[in-house]
Amino acid sequence: MNLRIGFGIDFHQLVEDRQFWLGGVLIPHSKGALGHSDADVLLHAICDAMLGAACLGDIGVHFPDTDASLKNIDSKILLKKSLELVRKAGYNIVNIDSTLCLQAPKVKDYIPLMQTAIAQILSLNINDVSIKATTTEKMGFVGREEGLVAYASILLHKQV
Ligand SMILES: [Zn+2]
Repeated sequence: MNLRIGFGIDFHQLVEDRQFWLGGVLIPHSKGALGHSDADVLLHAICDAMLGAACLGDIGVHFPDTDASLKNIDSKILLKKSLELVRKAGYNIVNIDSTLCLQAPKVKDYIPLMQTAIAQILSLNINDVSIKATTTEKMGFVGREEGLVAYASILLHKQV
């Protein structure tokens, strides 16, 4: 059995005066995610799932928020670098499943764009990159629009 499963989770605060990058796509919104990088919560969860499946630690180990060269970095670059690490360890991606958890804005119409952006970076088909979205029915920090969460699962296959 040459398969490895991985799981990733990420959280960011939502604040005013920040661009809102999600799944590699710039989404018009009154708030954006706060972080050292562009704070793309979905791409970070996918990086963590990928690194985890290969037992390579987490995103903070490889791309620490104390590294000034990573300030406001495009998370698509982090995703690409994570893929390179996983490939170097001898793995290819089979598929990704993910869920975004946020109260606003409605992201349904942006999901195909996110799938396209992620599939392109990871050399996958769009139907290998599942992205779902849910709210918390106005409960908790997500419901109060103070932040958002992304969860991602990934399957890797050992290169032959
Ligand atoms: Zn993050």
